[in-house]
Amino acid sequence: MVEKDDWRLLNDVWYLKGQCINPTNGEEVIKYLPHLKHCIFCYDKVNKNRIRWFVPDEKNISCCICEKCFADFCEMFSWRLLDGL
Ligand SMILES: [Zn+2]
Repeated sequence: MVEKDDWRLLNDVWYLKGQCINPTNGEEVIKYLPHLKHCIFCYDKVNKNRIRWFVPDEKNISCCICEKCFADFCEMFSWRLLDGL
C-alpha cells in the first residue's frame, strides 16, 4: 500500500500523472536511453539484471520507472500501459 507521503513522491514526478507508459527492459534503457541512470521514483540504478522498466510515451523520454515503482504507483498516477517501444 502506497501512502500519499511516500518518500518516493518527493521527487518531481507529478508530470507523469495520466501519461501513457511503455514497457521496456534494462538492456534497452542502457543502450538507447543512456541519459537515464535511475528510477525517477526510488533512484534504483538502471541495470541489465532488472528485466522490466517503464518509460513515458514522449518524444524525448525524460525518465524511467522501475518495475516495483510502476506497480506501486500505477493506480495513483492513472497510467495507461502501451505495447512497448
Ligand atoms: Zn523505482
